[in-house]
Amino acid sequence: MKLDTRAMRHLTAEDWRVLTAVEMGSKNHEIVPTPLIEKIARLKGGASGVHKSISALAKVGLIARMKEAKYDGYRLSYGGLDYLALHTHASRKHVYSVGSRIGVGKESDIMIVADDTGTQKVLKIHRLGRISFRTVKTNRDYLRNRQSASWMYLSRLAAIKEYAFMQALREEGFPVPEPIAQSRHTIVMTLIDAPPMRQISSVPDPASLYAELIALILRLAKHGLIHGDFNEFNILIREDKTDDDENPITLTPILIDFPQMVSMDHQNAEMYFDRDVECIKRFFSRRFHFTSTTPGPFFRDAKKTVGRDGVRRLDAVVEASGFTKKMAKDLEVALREQEASSEKRGESGDESEEEEEEEDLEEEDENDGDEDDDEGPQVIGDGVLENSAGLNKLTINDGT
Ligand code: ADP
Ligand code: MG
Repeated sequence: MKLDTRAMRHLTAEDWRVLTAVEMGSKNHEIVPTPLIEKIARLKGGASGVHKSISALAKVGLIARMKEAKYDGYRLSYGGLDYLALHTHASRKHVYSVGSRIGVGKESDIMIVADDTGTQKVLKIHRLGRISFRTVKTNRDYLRNRQSASWMYLSRLAAIKEYAFMQALREEGFPVPEPIAQSRHTIVMTLIDAPPMRQISSVPDPASLYAELIALILRLAKHGLIHGDFNEFNILIREDKTDDDENPITLTPILIDFPQMVSMDHQNAEMYFDRDVECIKRFFSRRFHFTSTTPGPFFRDAKKTVGRDGVRRLDAVVEASGFTKKMAKDLEVALREQEASSEKRGESGDESEEEEEEEDLEEEDENDGDEDDDEGPQVIGDGVLENSAGLNKLTINDGT
């Protein structure tokens, strides 16, 4: 789904209040009855003001009228939730303008945004539940419970979990983006000026990069964690210049994408650990024709290092942040389901060697050539950006 912020500047303070009321009502109602929206919004203009706002919001697709319902009601759309999150980021001065989309994942949209000083950042919008839960019967049964399966709830869980891990990893000095803010199903983080390893065709010293990545896996394990999706898309490779004439540049891997992280104590920990290791081995062999002479690393050895030397266990961090076991389970089931269905559609990174070489660097172009690239940034904040002539200045006029 494409994020289109153009309607933002047309929303009045009342519209925002009503949109917020629909969001609040969604906590207990799949379809929020109109009288409840009126009650929560409590506009000065009364019911007629609410109805005016409802029409305005429905017209731009932020809420949708549910006609099949027994009663008259509305539900929030992905667009509506996007707007609410952006509105919060804008009012906290984390985001001022929204630029182009740099990535479209199965489970997220990645946008370049900027604050009012012009500093670029990344907005990650989680979009879980875009696929229907059909592949695994147990999941289907589990997710029959409406709340567990709701896209809004699952996407928010993914954002909360990812933000908590990014914070914990960053505090421990792991090479990850700096988390700046989280609202609803979105995260704002620093923009890493480095391409994913997927786009790197050769490196001067594959052995040392390989060693560094394996060391990263082991360091995570020591802190009680497995990344769970440690692949060439989720490792960005930054080039740093050095003063050393013999090695003029160093390559630093930076890890992203954390909603699927699991504990070293997880019942399938060994499988996840081995899969992460295998992913790197396979990529290095195919892309850089490098195969390590050292076998492993092995889960059983890594397991022995968990918490060693007094290091902080980070697998408990997310739970400590209020992410309950039930939330963890709901998210895990949804992510596993998503993974299973994308494997079915042949979207996993598991393509054959020939296919991979062909695709090679082309794939990025597909995403990069996205149509929103030409449009320039869409301003959502309430300041004035210098040199903003020609930009769509979008004003949030609710005084927040
Ligand atoms: P998904 O869950 O959809 O895989 P990711 O977090 O892996 O989402 O992001 C998708 C892509 O967006 C990455 O492969 C990377 O190219 C880009 N990306 C994500 N976060 C950043 C960031 N902080 N800085 C630069 N690029 C990023
Ligand atoms: Mg990813």
